[in-house]
Amino acid sequence: MNIVNIKDTSGKLYYIGGVVRDELLGRESFDIDITYVGNAIEYCAKFGEVIRVNPDFGTIRVNVCGREVDFASTRAEVYDRKGHLPRITKIGCGLKEDVLRRDFTVNALAKSITTGEIIDYTGGLDDLKNKTLRVLHDGSFIDDPTRIIRGLKFSVRFGFELDEHTKKLQDEYLSAVNYDMCYKRVKKELIETFNLNSQEAFDRFINQGIYKLVTENDITLPSVNIENLIKTYPVKNVWLVYAGVLQDLSRLELTRQERKILDDFVLLQNTPMNSDFEIYKAFQNVETETVLLYAILRDEKIARRYLDNLRNIKIQTTGDDLLNLGLKPSPKYKEILDKILAAKLQTPEMSKKDELELVRTLL
Ligand code: ATP
Ligand code: MG
Repeated sequence: MNIVNIKDTSGKLYYIGGVVRDELLGRESFDIDITYVGNAIEYCAKFGEVIRVNPDFGTIRVNVCGREVDFASTRAEVYDRKGHLPRITKIGCGLKEDVLRRDFTVNALAKSITTGEIIDYTGGLDDLKNKTLRVLHDGSFIDDPTRIIRGLKFSVRFGFELDEHTKKLQDEYLSAVNYDMCYKRVKKELIETFNLNSQEAFDRFINQGIYKLVTENDITLPSVNIENLIKTYPVKNVWLVYAGVLQDLSRLELTRQERKILDDFVLLQNTPMNSDFEIYKAFQNVETETVLLYAILRDEKIARRYLDNLRNIKIQTTGDDLLNLGLKPSPKYKEILDKILAAKLQTPEMSKKDELELVRTLL
């Protein structure tokens, strides 16, 4: 349930944002947000064991009967620098002001903990009923372009559509993106969106031009169905298989491992793949994410050949075996092992005995 066990008669505590939306939709929430009209840090510590306090934001995380609950002070914000974190102008403002800084009307609902009453300053209840995502003001995407990706995430998760005016504002923004924005937040939203593993989300991401937030290159929709590909070949970094289609992710702060997945794909562009042996050699030291990018952007058949038929083939002969056969360690070792591999890729049922037999004929 999205409800926590809090008794409060102050009339100043409200469930807020996603948790109210989710309850009305009959869905489980990832996290529970509660707002206090006033200073939450002073007031809310009594509800359980305090996990974390952030005085700059006026927020406090408390363990309430085994669930982590975020209590926030009502706050007002301004975007001095568009696309970056807002500056808080007031902590402990009225509920309405707090609600008006939010992204979509369906995320701007509040529910009184004291009375259970739903407070709807922006028409969120109607939009929820009509499955519509609507921003609260015309400058919303300019203030914070990550809301465009959030809109994509919610539209796919809930089957909602952008209202017409909101879509127009999105188109306007995407036709003149200000690339001076906080890409840490963009990356976080991209990860959450693409980890849904939804081809529909990706189709919209490309067709609506949302990718322009990340790269100035023109991108067209690949013909490969990425969702199916990932269902067949599961990977850890689902989001990166989708985002990697843009190839230029230089604006995102990638980890070393994420970087390698993309760099390896670039290296594969000029690698010959004319035989099973070449395919095996090309892919054997790259992550499956890289192989999937190859499937999407270069050659699906070759990538599937590797994933379906080749990747589990391993030779059993080792350097020690060659030593035992009286061969002195030298570059010849690699040559021999490669020959065994090439033979085994053709005849995977080869036993170790067969392999060593082959070595003897080679010597
Ligand atoms: P989820 O189910 O993914 O957690 P959520 O709506 O709860 O969705 P959170 O990221 O947990 O989203 O944020 C909680 C609330 O904070 C949102 O419902 C929304 O009211 C507000 N919010 C979050 N991000 C933004 C943003 N970029 N701009 C404006 N308001 C935001
Ligand atoms: Mg949430």
